[in-house]
Amino acid sequence: MNIDPLTTNTLPGRKVHQHRGMIEMPPRSQLYCLAPLGMGTVEIESLTSYIQRLAWAYRVNPRVLVAEVILPHLSNTYYSDLTRLGSFSRTRSMSINGVGEVAQDWARTLEHLTMRSDLRLLTLHPWADGLPAWGLLRQKPQWCPVCYDEWREQKQPVYQPLLWAIQAVTICLQHAQPVVDLCLVCRQSQSAIASKRGLGCCTQCGVWLGGQPRSEQSREEDLIDWQKWIKEIVEELILANMMFGSLPWHLLPAGINACVEAVGGTRQLGRITHGLRNEMHLSKKMARDRTSLQAWFLQLQRNFSHVTTKQAM
Ligand SMILES: [Zn+2]
Ligand SMILES: [Zn+2]
Repeated sequence: MNIDPLTTNTLPGRKVHQHRGMIEMPPRSQLYCLAPLGMGTVEIESLTSYIQRLAWAYRVNPRVLVAEVILPHLSNTYYSDLTRLGSFSRTRSMSINGVGEVAQDWARTLEHLTMRSDLRLLTLHPWADGLPAWGLLRQKPQWCPVCYDEWREQKQPVYQPLLWAIQAVTICLQHAQPVVDLCLVCRQSQSAIASKRGLGCCTQCGVWLGGQPRSEQSREEDLIDWQKWIKEIVEELILANMMFGSLPWHLLPAGINACVEAVGGTRQLGRITHGLRNEMHLSKKMARDRTSLQAWFLQLQRNFSHVTTKQAM
């Protein structure tokens, strides 16, 4: 009986070529094809969190992985060495999770290296591109200490959801706790790409970032309602993008213009939104967010002024 090792014990669907005694291997990714956490949900992981988990899967410092494997493949080279990378990690690395060219460049590069096609979803870009950058993305990471504790106790991976990178998100609804952005021990903010510590530990002094006393301040009903609304909207936008692709934000200024015309100008619209503070008994912080709408609208109009001009022609 002729037993040919190239035609027996072959997995279903696996292509085996016998030409010249060579086996055609399927392409291999340069980096481990780690699955992102929370995919398809509003708890989806952020890209900087993914990069750190990927590095620790290799047991290497995330900044070493970034410097040696990721940076050489990015289109932009302005943080091409470890020294610049250190300052970038402390200052602007949250932009990897945001909208625009930096987020796209990092997501494309990671997708190429891991041979995954879904890593762009770990940034705000797919569903928020076109919205004013102002007020959208946080400049420093924030976290819920109770989530960190819970994941560690349950031996689940500790990670940073993309939701925590959004400036408007100030509460973890799961625990009715404020998300925080300073280490309780060293009082320092965190780098989005750590140099030594695993996720959940302070990037500056190394202590565990969970274990903080619970706060009662976040239990105000109107604040919880506001945060629920934000979370629902983000969830809808993520799902809408997954189902329909790019969202038609360029149509939004026309809708806002109609509102502005109906109330008699942007200043008047600002006054109306300011008036909501008394009507809805909103806190001072929330009132500031609301009055900022006027500036936000103007920035949105500017973003799409070229589109509306073209349409008018
Ligand atoms: Zn939490
Ligand atoms: Zn610290």
